[in-house]
Amino acid sequence: MPKLPEVYKLNTYELPRRAGEMREYELDIEVPEKVGVELIAVPAGDVIEVDARLESVTEGVLLSAEIFAVAKGQCGRCLDPVELVIEKRIQELFLYEQKVERKKRTPVLDDLDSEDELLMEGDVMDLESPIRDAIVLALPNNPLCSDECAGLCPNCGGKWAELPENHAHEVIDARWAGLAALAIDEPDFKN
Ligand SMILES: [Zn+2]
Ligand SMILES: [Zn+2]
Repeated sequence: MPKLPEVYKLNTYELPRRAGEMREYELDIEVPEKVGVELIAVPAGDVIEVDARLESVTEGVLLSAEIFAVAKGQCGRCLDPVELVIEKRIQELFLYEQKVERKKRTPVLDDLDSEDELLMEGDVMDLESPIRDAIVLALPNNPLCSDECAGLCPNCGGKWAELPENHAHEVIDARWAGLAALAIDEPDFKN
């Protein structure tokens, strides 16, 4: 069995290394671990579809891709299940390794966003970080079942949408609760 992150790797040996050459790939990536944010993510075992177009350019391989996936999570207010269809276009340049070697000899270029650079590993492109970034950016940190979701009653946890209109609890206002406590404490204080 391949190592888990291998599912994101695309071998591009069919793409001639001549500027202008192009190949298209349809990938179904079954993700070994969830991809997303805390409250909503593409769950482990689900499939991310990637329609990728690879183009040989002088410096490396240009990836243009459309990503389709369904993220599943919970409404941040009422905890109902939420599903979100993700459709995202990405474009990334993967540099040939030897081009990077050459760039490294130029100290000025070396400092320029070298950490964000994507590198070919021989013929292999690792699509994990571009796909992960695209999906994370497409997801809300606080997913809602609807913008109007009223959430839950803080006292009983009932869903406001399902509770009767006059739903209320007998609660003592926090300020009066404080006074009541004082009133009880006071006789002790005098004794
Ligand atoms: Zn909700
Ligand atoms: Zn309640």
